[in-house]
Amino acid sequence: MRKPKDKVAPADAGTGAGAGEPQPRQRVRANALAKPRPRPQQPPVALYSPAEVEEIFRRFSIQRPQPRGELDYVNAFTLLVAVVLSAQATDVGVNKATGPLFRVADTPEKMLALGEARVGESIRTIGLWRNKAKNVIALSEALIRDHGGAVPRTREALVTLPGVGRKTANVVLNVAFGQPTIAVDTHIFRIGNRIGLAPGATPEEVEAGLLRVVPAHYMRHAHHWLILHGRYVCKARKPDCAACVIADLCKWPDKTASVPAPLVEIEPPAPAASLCQPDARLRHLLRHRRQRAGKVDAAAGVEPDRGREARPHRVERRIGDAEIGGEPDEGQV
Ligand code: SF4
Repeated sequence: MRKPKDKVAPADAGTGAGAGEPQPRQRVRANALAKPRPRPQQPPVALYSPAEVEEIFRRFSIQRPQPRGELDYVNAFTLLVAVVLSAQATDVGVNKATGPLFRVADTPEKMLALGEARVGESIRTIGLWRNKAKNVIALSEALIRDHGGAVPRTREALVTLPGVGRKTANVVLNVAFGQPTIAVDTHIFRIGNRIGLAPGATPEEVEAGLLRVVPAHYMRHAHHWLILHGRYVCKARKPDCAACVIADLCKWPDKTASVPAPLVEIEPPAPAASLCQPDARLRHLLRHRRQRAGKVDAAAGVEPDRGREARPHRVERRIGDAEIGGEPDEGQV
C-alpha cells in the first residue's frame, strides 16, 4: 500500500509538464547558459530598387544587344572544353591554344582519339595544362560513356563531369543552350559586391542575389553584360567610371563619376577567323551592319531612322525625367 507522502502532485499541472521538470526560475538560468541558437540567415539585400535594376540592364542591352563571350568554340562540346581550360587563364590565351586543337578535335570521340599526350602538347601554353589535359580526356570519355557523346543540358549532369564545376556548368547552359543562368566569375563577383547589386561572401550568394534581382527578360544575357562591364569598365584596380553608362545609378561610394557615359552600341567581336568558314566572319559583319541600320530595338525603344546618335540623347532625357525614381543628378542638369 502506498504511503500518502508518495502521492506527488504534478510539478506544473497547468501546463501538463511532468514531475522533475525545471521550475520557471531554474529554466531561466538554464536558458542563460544554453548556447545561442543560430538565427536563420537573411539573404544580403541589393541596394537598388527594381526600377533601378531595370534601367541598369536596359542600358547594358542597348550597349550590347547581342553580347557574346570571348572564348572561341564551334559547338557545345568545344565550348565545354574551352571553359574548362579557361580556369585561371585568359580567354585570349585559351583561344590561341584551342584554335588548332578544335580544328582536329571538335567531338569527344576525336578528342579521345587524339589522346592525353597530344592534347597536353596543344594546350601547353595554358596554366595547369597537365591537369587540364587529363580532365579533357576524362570528360570526353564520360560524355561518350554516359551521354552518347552529347553535352548534357542539366547542371546536375554537367557537374559530374571531370573538371566541371557549377560556374562552368552555368556558362555552358547559358551560352550553348540559352538557359537563364548566371555564372559568377571574378568580374561578376566584384561588381555584385562593389556596387551592391548582389552582395555576397561567396559566388553562390552573389549568383542567388542576381537571380533574385535581375528582371526575367534580361536574364538570358545578364551574365555576359556583367562580365563585359567588369572586364572593360568596372575593372578590378581602377574602375573607369568616366566611361560607365550606369555611373549615375551606381551606389559605390568611391565612384569617380556621376554622369553616365554616352549610350552607344558597341560592335560585338567577330567569331575567330581560325574557327570559321572563310566567309563566316564577313557574313557576321554584314549582318551586324544590317541590324544597326534598320532594326528597332524594342528594349531600347529607339526608332529605326534615328540611328546611333539618338541613343545618348534618349537616355539623358529619361534620366532627367527621373524615370528611374531618383532625383536628376546635379551633373546632368
Ligand atoms: S560608376 Fe564606376 S564603380 Fe560604378 S559601376 Fe561604373 S565603373 Fe563601376
